[in-house]
Amino acid sequence: MDDEGGECLSPEAAFALLGDELRLDILFALYESTEREDCQGDSVTYSTLREAVGEPDSGKFNYHLSRLQGQFVEKLDHGYAMRHAGSTVVRAVLSGTFTDDPRFGPAPTGKPCFRCDGDVSVSYRNEHVFTQCDTCEGSLTLRFTPPGTLSALPYPPAGLDARTAGETVELAHARFEHEVGMLAADSCPDCGGPTGRELVVCSDHDAGDRTRCGECDLSIGAVARLECTTCGCGRVTPPLLAHLGRPAVLELLDADGSSPSAWTRFTRAMTRPYEVGDPDEPAVTYAMGDDLVRVGGDLTLTLE
Ligand SMILES: [Zn+2]
Ligand SMILES: [Zn+2]
Ligand SMILES: [Zn+2]
Repeated sequence: MDDEGGECLSPEAAFALLGDELRLDILFALYESTEREDCQGDSVTYSTLREAVGEPDSGKFNYHLSRLQGQFVEKLDHGYAMRHAGSTVVRAVLSGTFTDDPRFGPAPTGKPCFRCDGDVSVSYRNEHVFTQCDTCEGSLTLRFTPPGTLSALPYPPAGLDARTAGETVELAHARFEHEVGMLAADSCPDCGGPTGRELVVCSDHDAGDRTRCGECDLSIGAVARLECTTCGCGRVTPPLLAHLGRPAVLELLDADGSSPSAWTRFTRAMTRPYEVGDPDEPAVTYAMGDDLVRVGGDLTLTLE
């Protein structure tokens, strides 16, 4: 699509504009007075904004306000309003992504491991929720995963507030499902860009075996890999979770009609038996009664 918007800044220039405490104070004051409840995205007058920021030097205030205009702040006839990029910056800071580095765990969740029935704990660091088995070797190892990792999910720090260990696991997996769903629908959850989607099948893997494979180092031999081609946001997931909106997949994961939680859907997607097709044409199939649910190399789902 053609860019018919205003002047674009390079990322470096945009970040440089924010490298001043007073400018961030102005953005926060504008956000508080225009976008919080009861404000309905309205504008504020110059004097209200300056008073909210509390900067006594008008020359200094005017200079920094003018630098924010265009990209982050919009000047109207009667005052100042927030631009979307300005709100995004404020919300990113409020979410704790740039300022907090909380860690916790491992803490017990009361959930059983889907590989060995051992106890599952949850821990948090590097903005990821990790579920980990206290007994077995888990399902995957990445550079930053703790021992026994069963799932490793990006999760923002603000999502930890007032949650129990079990709730954190469920919410992290529920968010993961939505993010995977958006990537599968060709829209990056972070930037809206188009996505690449592929099925990765390990030819060395015994499809019926849940032990970690020496070749791919996973306990599941076929995964869906989805990645934004613009910003690189990506997720790796059991293939079935890329199609949670499809009735056949819901039926596969909820055969007993128990409306399983996000964590249970994940465990079922990780352990559901599958067959691998012709190595030249990557695909996995799942038996459902007399039918087959097939996920192809580009993650297209068909019923056979
Ligand atoms: Zn285990
Ligand atoms: Zn993206
Ligand atoms: Zn393998």
